[in-house]
Amino acid sequence: MWSPSDTPDWLRTGLDHLWFPYTQMKTMTPPLPAVATRGSEIVLADGRRLVDGVASWWTAAHGYNHPHILTAMAEQMARLPHVMFGGLMNEPAARLAGRLAAKLPGDLNRCFFAESGSVSVEVAMKMAVQYRLNRGEQRSKILCFEGGYHGDTIATMAVCDPEEGMHSRFAGLLPRHVVAPLPVDGERRGHVAALVEAHGHELAAILIEPLVQGAGGMRFHDADLLRFLRDLADAHGLMLIFDEIFVGFGRTGALFACEKAGVVPDIVTLSKALTGGVAPLSACVATERVFEGFWSDDPEHALMHGPTYMAHALGCAAANASLDLFETEDRLAQAAAIEAQLAAELAPARDLPGVRDVRTLGAIGVVELDTPPDTERLRARFIDRGVWVRPFGSIVYLTPALTIAPDDLSRLTGAIIAELRAG
Ligand SMILES: *Cc1c(COP(=O)(O)O)cnc(C)c1O
Repeated sequence: MWSPSDTPDWLRTGLDHLWFPYTQMKTMTPPLPAVATRGSEIVLADGRRLVDGVASWWTAAHGYNHPHILTAMAEQMARLPHVMFGGLMNEPAARLAGRLAAKLPGDLNRCFFAESGSVSVEVAMKMAVQYRLNRGEQRSKILCFEGGYHGDTIATMAVCDPEEGMHSRFAGLLPRHVVAPLPVDGERRGHVAALVEAHGHELAAILIEPLVQGAGGMRFHDADLLRFLRDLADAHGLMLIFDEIFVGFGRTGALFACEKAGVVPDIVTLSKALTGGVAPLSACVATERVFEGFWSDDPEHALMHGPTYMAHALGCAAANASLDLFETEDRLAQAAAIEAQLAAELAPARDLPGVRDVRTLGAIGVVELDTPPDTERLRARFIDRGVWVRPFGSIVYLTPALTIAPDDLSRLTGAIIAELRAG
């Protein structure tokens, strides 16, 4: 299949000098050289084309190389790729903040831009803690959940699932927060309420991925759970932070999960599909009440954060173009159609040996296995079938572009069923 002439010279350089994520470099299967993308397709150096089931870590909501986004970026690039955000404002950032505020529910009206999801979660945590500090109160702990994922930086690792987030391995480095079981039933709700009761005086916020815990295991929960947390947060004066970095921008079938759930958080974090998968950008959006906690004559009460590339003009232009597409092309109808197709085509997996659960929500399809498969081998077999599917742990999942053609989606689901059948 491979011939030396198909191997670009940069592949060897990369293998000698790059460091890959969550990868044992000594034993890794060499990454594939990707040379082009288009729609739901990734083109490799040897000419093979893979149907993409991941949308590049859930970012490419409109598929790759959407002309509307590329044109908007090209125009912005020619005029003003970026300018510092201290003392200067740029048009794409100003427009984007206004549009996000208009689309988010309630009075989530104040937008702080950063470059990555993790940093936006850190900003959200900092907002919640400094909100208290500005009132002369020391409350620096966050209530977070088992199975949660909020990023890889030190502050965000500390609010991830303790096993997945490597709490014990990095114990000396990580601040301790309060990790609770997901309150999916009455017993666990009692437990979470008791934890808040016991730690209320030191807690600043409750942090959760609404409706779907993504990287921690693709687990779904219902809107009731979020209403319970909203009430709990209100009763104890805590901020409710929704991390919508995975679920935002149509992934669950609504533009935002908070909208679908009918629960308005105090702070929401957005990234991943914010730019439609073309540029790193994130936003931490707060309600008026949060913002007012910083509104004062005291300079020390200002929000103490400011990434160098914040409100990146080119990234904001891409995000505005992505929002245009949500307005002009019916992405949510496409998400609903994907949900129906995923449910129908993954259903046969239920009867296969070794399958624990099959679940779908919006443009997310999950097959959970009883035990973790040989992930490397399974990933390689998917490539042999011409599809890009990246199982992790016991989870085989699809999160395609919302624009994926039904035939391409069938190739993805068909490959999963065939692989699980083959064992
Ligand atoms: C990916 C992700 C993050 C981290 O975003 P990065 O851009 O990788 O830092 C945080 N929260 C959730 C829910 C995510 O899915």
